[in-house]
Amino acid sequence: MALASKRIFDSVVGHKLAIKKLLMMVAAGRMPNCLLFVGPAHQGKKNVALGLAQALLCETSNEACGQCSSCVRVAAQQSEGVILVEPEKNQIKIDAARNVVQQISLAKWGKARVVIIDDAHLLNPQAANALLKSIEEPPPNTHFVLISASQENILKTLRSRSQIMRFAGLTKQELIKLGRVELDPETEKSASYILECLMSGRENEAIDMVRQTVDSREKGQTMARLWLEEIRNMWLSPNPISRAHLARLSLETLTMDRDLKSNCDLQLTLENYLRQSALLLTQTKVSAYL
Ligand SMILES: [Zn+2]
Repeated sequence: MALASKRIFDSVVGHKLAIKKLLMMVAAGRMPNCLLFVGPAHQGKKNVALGLAQALLCETSNEACGQCSSCVRVAAQQSEGVILVEPEKNQIKIDAARNVVQQISLAKWGKARVVIIDDAHLLNPQAANALLKSIEEPPPNTHFVLISASQENILKTLRSRSQIMRFAGLTKQELIKLGRVELDPETEKSASYILECLMSGRENEAIDMVRQTVDSREKGQTMARLWLEEIRNMWLSPNPISRAHLARLSLETLTMDRDLKSNCDLQLTLENYLRQSALLLTQTKVSAYL
């Protein structure tokens, strides 16, 4: 009996084009030192990065076989060839960056080494600086993948050293498949309404609506995802809000979403978010008339 495949790319929902491009780069042996994945949060970019690591490290195939011991270890997140960096308390600090630099200076076991930095916009400037040289001149077969919701929030010094790869947002059907959106038209309607209130300066109405509709952290997070989706749609279509403001708004939303995962007070976190966002949107309006 054949072993069950642990090929990560097979379990990714959507992102077919991105995966195809990445596999072409691997096959051609043209992997950049640093890739920057940008696109809506919580839609599988990290899994795509892990799938890429699997392909780069696979012992038998350029496309990841899903069966060899390397593929199995990457899938179990136990590969010595993959270094995954994630923020702690909304920041990636210099210690984490130094740790990466130290690890990649050691001899490697497998074919390649892949450093994945999730939420790379949370690298603080010291941490980003500590990584610059490694990103520019990494040891052989060492590759960086930075992940973020938008490239605007990534420090320029890092951005300019990265090849940017844009991820399209998943369709609603794909999001449902991913379990990211409950099929609940009421929640969806409330999310749009709250955003609409904020945009038209009805901040208190937005807060009342949130009090009435969001009664759990899960629901708060569903709202956050719906708002991110709407902000993305605004990004793609002409609208009076500048892209810089939309980038900040999406960053606020991501921070709020992250806070909800920790032990913050639900209502307080949401209210702070709504007040911050309202302020941001008012500033946009003022600057639009200047
Ligand atoms: Zn393999």
